[in-house]
Amino acid sequence: MKAAVLEKGHPELFIRDVQDPDLGQGEVRVAVEACGVCGSDLHITLHPMIRLKSYPIIPGHESAGHVLECGPGVTDLKKGQRVVISAGTSCGKCSACKAGRENRCPEVGVLGFDRNGAFAEQIVVERSKVYPLPDSVPIEQGAILADAVSTPYHAIRFVGEMKAGQSVLIAGCGGLGIHGVMIAKALQASRVIALDVDSGALDNAEKAGATEVYNARELKKTMQKIRAAGDVDLMVDFSGVYANAEYLIRGLNPGGRYVMVGLGKGSLGFSMPPFMIYKELSIRGAYGSDSRSLPELIELLHSGRLDLGMSITSRHPLSEINQCLHKLDSREENPIRYIIEPQK
Ligand SMILES: [Zn+2]
Ligand SMILES: [Zn+2]
Repeated sequence: MKAAVLEKGHPELFIRDVQDPDLGQGEVRVAVEACGVCGSDLHITLHPMIRLKSYPIIPGHESAGHVLECGPGVTDLKKGQRVVISAGTSCGKCSACKAGRENRCPEVGVLGFDRNGAFAEQIVVERSKVYPLPDSVPIEQGAILADAVSTPYHAIRFVGEMKAGQSVLIAGCGGLGIHGVMIAKALQASRVIALDVDSGALDNAEKAGATEVYNARELKKTMQKIRAAGDVDLMVDFSGVYANAEYLIRGLNPGGRYVMVGLGKGSLGFSMPPFMIYKELSIRGAYGSDSRSLPELIELLHSGRLDLGMSITSRHPLSEINQCLHKLDSREENPIRYIIEPQK
């Protein structure tokens, strides 16, 4: 099969003919029709920040396609069934995995980082990692559910425990945060407040349904404006800019949750202020998603309550993967997701 392969020490991927992956017990072979190019793919290619356990490897972790073949023991899927492939990898045996909370597995990993991913014509994954996709959902919208949409969904719905009618602030409106805006809206937030330092990202946030957008540069003043209209029930921070945490947290309602998704460096910059106790505030971390998110998201798309049309910036054959990485890096087109189509 054709695949985009990452070699150690090379910033760009090589398009190669490689062996088709072996199909084992309990596994499914999927023809990859669409795979999103994620910001984290830049961290193993153009801007290497993450050292992988082994090379060469095929990246790509936001994919969807159709079933080509089921391995022994897989009886509930048919050839041709459209599926979304979960981005997370896990052991499948520990108590977290058995409880459907596989993002808490001690061996948790990501397709394309810890084992071969989906910038390829085929991928083989465990049956538990594929989710049937109805014909009503475009395949490329299904693909980006796997990370760009499921990660903010998990953070908002399950870790942040958002309820309809609550106010939500999204800090950082890149590839994940922009979907946080769409999800908060789909889950009927009363206010969806978007913060970013990039005007293109704020334009996207407005189109995605944010009710208020603010440049985050002068956050202290901005928070005064936001709080003039009322404090916020849930804040989800995709920015990784820890220095902003205290300004944000001060604007939470009693019982409010500040959920950290974006990885950053340094300290939060404050010892726990007394108001955190008086207002019963909490700071939570959210990582990836578990088995609850994809089925609910697929239903939200199927019912039309969520539409990811604006998220698909453009589609490209596998041979253009490096151009897509460079375009994502330059942000010239203000992209949300470039989609690779390995079958084309
Ligand atoms: Zn990703
Ligand atoms: Zn496990």
